[in-house]
Amino acid sequence: HRRVTQYRRVLLKLSGEEFGGGKLGVDPDVVSRIAREIASVSAAGFQIAVVIGGGNFFRGAELRQRGMDGVRADYMGMLGIVMNCLALQEFLEQRNVVTRVQTAIAMGQIAEPYIPLRAIRHMEKGRVVIFGAGMGLPFFTTDTVAVQRALETHCEAVLFTKNGVDGVYSADPHKDPSATRFDTLTYDEAISRDLKVVDQTAFTLAAENKLPMIVMGLEPEGNILRAAQGEKIGTLVNA
Ligand code: UDP
Repeated sequence: HRRVTQYRRVLLKLSGEEFGGGKLGVDPDVVSRIAREIASVSAAGFQIAVVIGGGNFFRGAELRQRGMDGVRADYMGMLGIVMNCLALQEFLEQRNVVTRVQTAIAMGQIAEPYIPLRAIRHMEKGRVVIFGAGMGLPFFTTDTVAVQRALETHCEAVLFTKNGVDGVYSADPHKDPSATRFDTLTYDEAISRDLKVVDQTAFTLAAENKLPMIVMGLEPEGNILRAAQGEKIGTLVNA
């Protein structure tokens, strides 16, 4: 069951919840395991960039509901993301993978600023690029950032790994046991069904630009590499 093509350059979106292992903060064992997966993708010759969420620290929407100003809450969310980026950088470098973190909010002591052409150059040299601080703009989520960064740095696909979900289902599989998983889905279907697994802005942006999206689980080990190699993993959302 091979998909059409092997990708040359991919963007991987990881959720912050994964990084925390279900808790607040970073779980080093989890991040180390994810780093091993990314290292194997890079070692196999794929160019890879990463966008991480920040749900293990702060979600703007949750802080809003608890009475905080939404814009400031979103900036807190973006700063949480940067901690995840540094954790991933650490565990990749422990495996001798050369990495660069680029942030959308300037913080020169710890990361480069987001410079797309430079990010492309890093990837061409085999470096793993980690994009941090989201888009640098409140009112966005990292799903949308993942699609935007993938488009701007000419990634051929965006891989979304979702906490505890291995693809796109007809309904929330945690709530509805009769939910079935799609192997493939068009963007029109994903948008009209109002599927919540990836946010709608991200779907719309990917659809308009015909960027293939794969929604998949991190488990079993080797999944990210297999997806990059074009194997049929999770759900492929395509034009
Ligand atoms: N965020 C933002 N702009 C961005 C990206 C993220 O304001 O471009 C904020 C937003 O508050 C969001 C938080 O950062 O809730 C963490 O990101 P997200 O919720 O997407 O993380 P995930 O659910 O993937 O862990």
